[in-house]
Amino acid sequence: MAHRLTVIGTGYLGATHAACMADLGFEVLGLDMDEEKVARLSAGDLPFYEPGLEPVLRRGLESGRLRFTSSYAEAAEFGDVHFLCVGTPQKSGEYAADLTYVNAAVEALAPLLTRPCLVVGKSTVPVGTAARLGDVLARLAPVGGDAVLAWNPEFLREGFAVDDTLNPDRIVVGLPGEQGAAEHAEKVLREVYASALGAGTPLVTADFPTAELVKVSANAFLATKISFINAMAEVCEAAHADVTKLSEALSYDDRIGGRFLGPGLGFGGGCLPKDIRAFMARAGELGADQALTFLREVDEINIRRRIRMVDLARQLLGGSFIGRTVGVLGAAFKPNSDDVRDSPALDVAASIRAQGGKVTVYDPQAMPNARRAHPSLDFGESALAAAAGAHVVLLLTEWAEFRDMEPDALAGAVAERNLVDGRNALDPERWRAAGWNYRALGRP
Ligand code: NAD
Repeated sequence: MAHRLTVIGTGYLGATHAACMADLGFEVLGLDMDEEKVARLSAGDLPFYEPGLEPVLRRGLESGRLRFTSSYAEAAEFGDVHFLCVGTPQKSGEYAADLTYVNAAVEALAPLLTRPCLVVGKSTVPVGTAARLGDVLARLAPVGGDAVLAWNPEFLREGFAVDDTLNPDRIVVGLPGEQGAAEHAEKVLREVYASALGAGTPLVTADFPTAELVKVSANAFLATKISFINAMAEVCEAAHADVTKLSEALSYDDRIGGRFLGPGLGFGGGCLPKDIRAFMARAGELGADQALTFLREVDEINIRRRIRMVDLARQLLGGSFIGRTVGVLGAAFKPNSDDVRDSPALDVAASIRAQGGKVTVYDPQAMPNARRAHPSLDFGESALAAAAGAHVVLLLTEWAEFRDMEPDALAGAVAERNLVDGRNALDPERWRAAGWNYRALGRP
């Protein structure tokens, strides 16, 4: 059955979802309130960096199956299935999620819905949101109960977004309590995701609260795994042990596994930090805050890595950044993305700048976002430019370009061969052999 899809909110998640769904053969209308984003997407110009996505976007536009708009009336008229992909950032000054955008999207769309349709939330939301929005939808939609809500949390990773969308590990669908509506929603979503389901992707259907909790508990687990190894890194630093060896040895235990067990500067980005905080805030509202007190520790361990990184750099410079030049490699919160939301690298760079250091940052893709977020930092147009005259170089985002750097080439640019590998991404022997004073988090 040929469903027409809309995707409301065309950021990292929504633009990927829209383009991939069009590639699968659906007619798709992407909607964003940001007119500039709509114009760029319509011109085949991806407003952010995501490997492999731009060709998919262009194919969709050329096929005529993919369009973009800022008109809710057009979206309501067009869609049989409306995917909600708007942002749910952290509220300023609080742990809780800011639901302004998701509320606004439903309130804008619902009154315009004049025929039966399915509204499918994909944004990450606090448990209880879907039930509340289901009520809003039924109340505001002129078709009442013929506008059905489902919640289908998204697990894609930036840097792998296209593949994760086309070949997800699992599809989770939260269904409404009313049986007829639930059966209808499941049937439609099975049709929409027929390609992945046909390739063997497991489908888990659940009630709304369970589906909402799957997403935040997955992120809580991943954040915990990273902070676990970084807590071990703290102990290794005190005991003069090597956390990279420790992590390797742990990884061979298949109950533990090596993924998300890389010690370093910790997690950042637009998801893990705000999701674990929103999860704690929501659990508190539900009277279950004790269950998640460990997440506060997970968050604190993560933040402590940034402080440790700054301390290590300062120590290498004899105790002060004043009058010293620091080259920072990396600004994105992780490689293969230009996302600088809650970026550990930029946090470290800004902190050193605030302590009097002259900091020059380079990132292969995130320079425009980094400049906007931190206009007071200096930026270089290459790794060598960022390292020029540096008394210490900090590797803070493990782009392949930095992993593959030649120690001798970088040595030609710097004032002193001090290097802190914040991601345990380089071979210490190689750098030491080239005369570098190589230091890393969690290693002697
Ligand atoms: P984003 O900020 O890149 O995109 C959100 C988009 O929504 C923006 O383009 C914004 O202009 C638009 N928007 C906001 N309010 C709107 C409205 N009322 N009507 C129309 N458009 C509106 O955010 P993102 O990273 O794509 O994340 C979106 C959601 O997906 C969040 O809940 C996030 O937690 C979740 N998520 C993100 C990822 C990821 O890797 N980025 C992965 C899984 C889940």
